[in-house]
Amino acid sequence: MSLQRQNKSLQPQAKSRLHNLGFPRIGARRELKFAQEAFWKGEKSESELLQTASELRAQNWKRQAGLDLIPVGDFSLYDQVLDLSFTLGNLPARVQGLQGSELDQYFRVARGRSANDSGCNCVHAGEMTKWFDTNYHYIVPEFSAETRFSLNPSRLLAQIEEAQARGHNAKPVLIGPVTYLLLGKSKDATDPLSLLAQLLPVYAELLGLLAENGIEWVQIDEPTLVTELAPQWQEAFRTAYGALTNTGVKLLLTTYFGQLKENLALACSLPVDGLHLDAVNARDEVEPVIEQLSTDKVLSLGVVNGRNIWKTDLSALLDWLEPVAAKLGSRLWIAPSCSLLHVPVDLASEQKLDAEIRSWLAFAQQKLDEIWVIHSALNNGRASVAAELAENLAALNSRRTSPRVHNPKVQNAVAAIDPGLGKRKSAYPQRAALQRQTLNLPLYPTTTIGSFPQTQEIRQARLAFRKGELDAGDYTVRMQQEIKFAVKQQEALGLDVLVHGEAERNDMVEYFGEQLDGYAFSQFGWVQSYGSRCVKPPILFGDISRPKAMTVEWIKYAQSLTDKKMKGMLTGPVTILNWSFVRDDQPRSHSCYQLALAIREEVQDLERAGIDIIQIDEAALREGLPLRRSQWAEYLDWAVESFRISANGVSDSTQIHTHMCYSEFNDIIEAIAHMDADVITIETSRSDMELLDVFDEFHYPNEIGPGVYDIHSPNIPSVEQMVKLMRLAAQRIPAEHLWVNPDCGLKTRQWSEVIPALQNMVDAARVLREDR
Ligand code: GLN
Ligand code: ZN
Repeated sequence: MSLQRQNKSLQPQAKSRLHNLGFPRIGARRELKFAQEAFWKGEKSESELLQTASELRAQNWKRQAGLDLIPVGDFSLYDQVLDLSFTLGNLPARVQGLQGSELDQYFRVARGRSANDSGCNCVHAGEMTKWFDTNYHYIVPEFSAETRFSLNPSRLLAQIEEAQARGHNAKPVLIGPVTYLLLGKSKDATDPLSLLAQLLPVYAELLGLLAENGIEWVQIDEPTLVTELAPQWQEAFRTAYGALTNTGVKLLLTTYFGQLKENLALACSLPVDGLHLDAVNARDEVEPVIEQLSTDKVLSLGVVNGRNIWKTDLSALLDWLEPVAAKLGSRLWIAPSCSLLHVPVDLASEQKLDAEIRSWLAFAQQKLDEIWVIHSALNNGRASVAAELAENLAALNSRRTSPRVHNPKVQNAVAAIDPGLGKRKSAYPQRAALQRQTLNLPLYPTTTIGSFPQTQEIRQARLAFRKGELDAGDYTVRMQQEIKFAVKQQEALGLDVLVHGEAERNDMVEYFGEQLDGYAFSQFGWVQSYGSRCVKPPILFGDISRPKAMTVEWIKYAQSLTDKKMKGMLTGPVTILNWSFVRDDQPRSHSCYQLALAIREEVQDLERAGIDIIQIDEAALREGLPLRRSQWAEYLDWAVESFRISANGVSDSTQIHTHMCYSEFNDIIEAIAHMDADVITIETSRSDMELLDVFDEFHYPNEIGPGVYDIHSPNIPSVEQMVKLMRLAAQRIPAEHLWVNPDCGLKTRQWSEVIPALQNMVDAARVLREDR
């Protein structure tokens, strides 16, 4: 089914309008990524890059041609927030005046350099941070007392012209002024709110220009309305939208990713022409919104989930939506819940996915098909789309009943979880005493975070194995060679706790997903993470179980090569969950507990195999935090309990490590302590150990390895630098609780960088031991 074919059957007098909030821009085959990277390497010219971008926009609009309104301006060469900063003339001072085209400036802010920079024109890139609770990252707008806005509408106008020339009814997409200010960061003491008065005339000017260019509706995104807002920011919404009336365009105030809650009345009262509500996450708010929204306003309902890859239950949706539609008549618009940026482009690309699982899925293209079916059913009756509805029902029924999804054994195991499962036998002080005896480690023990360089040879071997050119036996031998090499290097360096190096792992989540029942993998299910970086989250579709041990053979082999302690290396349940597409037919917590039980079995198998130090990475624990702080505790409860279940089935003498590569612990320190890992390694090298303050103030009881080596940089840290950092650490944390390690895994580095850096690190630990 494709929208173009259906286009002609759309009624011109259709009662409600059908639209979309945004489409993925990377292309079904990641065309944008390859064009960007070729341009940055100097292999493609600026006009070639722009040509690819224009083709992608044309394709995307064609895919959406059956809609009444097409989003324009949702496309971006790097990031939509950065695009807006350019539209508003808000460029950091450090790139102003540098030579080159506007595109050069743009990529300098995005990546610190343009394609043509030969050293001297490099500047530091804009900071990047998570877009709400998604895995997309945007470039943070920078504000200061010097900030002046001035309109540069060229990008947006050019795209509108392009869309109109192709006969589309363009609906420009803009991030609204209040959200824009809230997304940014002040570089001095300037309060972003103080910039609102200056910002609004620029928005008004832009909206006026859009009206002149034949635009009727503008989608103005204010997703911060689903977050907790300070009173002055609620007031900012009133000021902003009060100032943006009478520009000649109609505004669709667009919210998504959650519930409006205490901002509901505010959202309904603003002087705009319509409101978009995420009717997947905030279905309960549809009724109060209808009550409060004045009858001259449009209500756009996002009824298809733009954040997951599952088919919508169309019949159930219609059961709920038909009475709503009857009430609203032509005031009702239909759309996905949010921009489709967060889902892969097209299921049609998937040739290898199991047919049954495939029948349960919907990517961006299929989500558009779904809203089309819904819209047709509402306007022309369900009979007009009987075949589509029947097909949808059959798929949903198969998913509801498939034994591949539902495994009673797993469900019983989850139901039988009791608080004892998450508890160690003894408290940390007893365990630590025992571990000190059995592990026999020096003061300031040295270790690494797990991965060693993923060399070209390792990647080639894996590719050959996947293609069937290398058989399993040969592949194992190749990986064992790599493990042996890593072990020998670590012994020569004099590290205390060794790792096997993770040569056999393509990715810290996919590696485990591939070995667990209940996971499926797409070929082209890419989603943009930032710039040209895309991720392909594995699909958690069913009850999770572990048919057999996943890591034990590799770790056992590594341990057999050395008398030093070998650390077993696993990814934790919360991280596996947060970096996957997860089920919508059970709570996230439920899927997380299932993962926890599977990882627990692996931990216990490692212990039985004689491994007495086991690290369980939770790099993505923070990423699951809900948008509203009031909901954090509930998430942290089950997330931390899941970690505890996975880790705590071992004897007191087994030492559990965890690793987290981020630097904000202030607001979750209690939860971190409750994880009760014997050792936590964290990223600290770039913060002068200041982020240990919170561990200090909290009297964090267990051991900590604050990273002393910034693995993101090719620079080799000196012995003095690392000694200095660890002495700063020792001012905050008792020395007997400190470990010496890099910030994170070393897979992106070269051996030629890793060896001297780790040698210095080991030497630094020796110097520190002399301190005592
Ligand atoms: N053990 C993993 C590694 O060393 C951890 C990666 C991460 O925290 N992102 O690569
Ligand atoms: Zn890390």
